[in-house]
Amino acid sequence: MEDEKTESFEYQSIQVLKGVGQAVAEKLKRLEIYNVQDVLFHLPIRYEDRTKLTALGALQIGQQALVEGVVDHCEVKFMGRGRRSLLCYLSDNTGAIVLRFFNFSKAQKNNLTAGTKLRCFGEAKRIATRLEIIHPEYQVIQSGHVDIEQSLTPIYPKTEGVHQTLLKKISDQVLSKINQGHLIDWLPEQVKTEYQFSDLVSALSSVHRPDKKENVFALNQSKTKAQQRLLFEELLAHQLSLLQSRGEIKKTRAIKLSVSSAQYSAFTDSLAFDLTMAQQKVIAEIFADINNAHPMLRLVQGDVGSGKTVVAAAAAMAVVNAGFQIAIMAPTEILAEQHFVNFKHWFGENKCLRLTGKDKGKKRQQKLDQIVTGECPIVIGTHALFQNDVEFKQLVLLVVDEQHRFGVHQRLALREKGNNNIVPHQLIMTATPIPRSLAMTAYADLDYSVIDELPKGRKPVKTVVVSTSRREEVVQRIEKACENGEQAYWVCTLVEESEVLQCQAAEVAAELLTAELVNVRVGLIHGRMKQDQKRAVINQFKNKEIDLLIATTVIEVGVDVPNASLMVVENAERLGLAQLHQLRGRVGRGGKQSACVLMYQAPLSETGKQRMSILRETNDGFKVAEKDLELRGPGEVLGTRQTGLMQMRIADIVRDEHWLPEVKKTALYIIEHHPQAVKPLVRRWLGKADRFANV
Ligand code: ADP
Ligand code: MG
Repeated sequence: MEDEKTESFEYQSIQVLKGVGQAVAEKLKRLEIYNVQDVLFHLPIRYEDRTKLTALGALQIGQQALVEGVVDHCEVKFMGRGRRSLLCYLSDNTGAIVLRFFNFSKAQKNNLTAGTKLRCFGEAKRIATRLEIIHPEYQVIQSGHVDIEQSLTPIYPKTEGVHQTLLKKISDQVLSKINQGHLIDWLPEQVKTEYQFSDLVSALSSVHRPDKKENVFALNQSKTKAQQRLLFEELLAHQLSLLQSRGEIKKTRAIKLSVSSAQYSAFTDSLAFDLTMAQQKVIAEIFADINNAHPMLRLVQGDVGSGKTVVAAAAAMAVVNAGFQIAIMAPTEILAEQHFVNFKHWFGENKCLRLTGKDKGKKRQQKLDQIVTGECPIVIGTHALFQNDVEFKQLVLLVVDEQHRFGVHQRLALREKGNNNIVPHQLIMTATPIPRSLAMTAYADLDYSVIDELPKGRKPVKTVVVSTSRREEVVQRIEKACENGEQAYWVCTLVEESEVLQCQAAEVAAELLTAELVNVRVGLIHGRMKQDQKRAVINQFKNKEIDLLIATTVIEVGVDVPNASLMVVENAERLGLAQLHQLRGRVGRGGKQSACVLMYQAPLSETGKQRMSILRETNDGFKVAEKDLELRGPGEVLGTRQTGLMQMRIADIVRDEHWLPEVKKTALYIIEHHPQAVKPLVRRWLGKADRFANV
């Protein structure tokens, strides 16, 4: 039961704490600390052991330690380029180390005279043949005994103007209150017994103020019992949040759409190819979902080239036949254009409309009219689709393609385009294959289909990795391929996110290659060209009026030219795995053997090497994604959608993956048997960051 008094304690403003006035409270907001409970769940990110002194002779490389010694002498060393270091030679009767300061004052130097006794804390690094501590914290020990810390030192995530001492002081106050029993433990007894979890208060106390007997290494890996209990609860809260929002959407009304077998056959007969088994299976799943008066919430994953578009078209067919509207949202104009062309081909010109940011004035108004009157059943577009003035007559299905590029809020905005309390069915398609464990957590609100088969006759792209020193050979290879009637891409990349520079690089490459390849028709496409120009170039490439297309990464998604069978990526080391895999997916779309040449600028970094070899070894998007996850972490892989996942306080969905099935099971158990625990748990862990709550 929720106890009034306790409830109010948790949610009291932090200003009830000593030392927290208006100004400090403002700063704490930046750490998402608003109330007393938020202080408790602002957990340390690591720990330091300042409870014992380490003899200088026993200090290990990489160890963070508290040491004491006497200054032998100090000197200022010049290190070139105007840089100076203050070196302070420290020893005790077991050994010696050097303290190094890059920034120092004259007074500081003068204080560190020979014979001064210092206590320092820092990380020992090996420099040349000796151990150094760079920029240690230190204090001069005047005489007699100086106190030593009694518990391990927690280090909290901090922000400008909020220091460790403040965070320590306020958490001390709250911790002493919870010891008096002011905090509800929402984990049911049964769950705690099953996993042998301690109660919440002792877990929190031990995580904030670990006993000095605890193993610092284990703590820094979040391996202690107390941490395991808390991270389980955090994963659980995220899961509950997603399931809760799913539950809410599932309660709303949607239009029930049914497809007769005659309609389905007519659709498949109209296609130029046979659907793969995987496509058929996913279409059946979608049909089952939309044949329901509650909204579909389905994620379709399929590697690049697995044929997701036609799956969306099957859904569109169901909508069009029933006389309603479908919206298809793409992340880029190129992709919207591509879909528009395909859908016009499948459904006829008068049934499709494309709306992008480029539509202005009268033309845009005309399109808006066609949407609001329901004249046009298939609306394809970019972000422009969710502007306020875009109104549908009856939107019943929403397809979001390559959704990792969209924020949740954008999806939400489109969902609200339904009317008469009808919520559109949602179909989300992604080419970023996400490892199952991650999908289970990140997309707990969605049902999940996989197109795990490529269309027949596809040959895996052969990937080779070469240094730029072999550019000449690569250029010759392009020449040969084009002579044989094949087509090729040459992709330019840049380190900076600057589109201008990237476009310039592509322009330069195009000039160079035009000069080098006299018999090859070279085209250029980049993000700063007008939409019409881009469309014209892609059409020329499609119609084989261009042999070699020089491009920036704008072609990453949506360009579908099956005859293109060679791709060169310049400075491939600058791109991440997922992006390279996406790019490579532009070739290997026809029946021909295709190749992808990843050209790098030597020397290649260690992770650069790993990325290249993974791509050389596999064409399987799932394997690539798994490696990507290992190399980059979940935040990057998932992109903007699940920012909440990146900001977990103590859990890490990759490291703690083994908990995920248990978490899922527990979430379902709590929803069924302890529904009153759902909201407080979500609020406790996600706080204001509960981005999923209304999605
Ligand atoms: P993606 O999953 O990357 O979005 P697309 O939907 O763009 O893939 O499809 C890639 C290409 O494969 C397109 O040219 C499409 O027409 C073609 N395609 C899709 N399904 C099949 C199939 N079952 N058999 C042959 N080609 C197909
Ligand atoms: Mg696609």
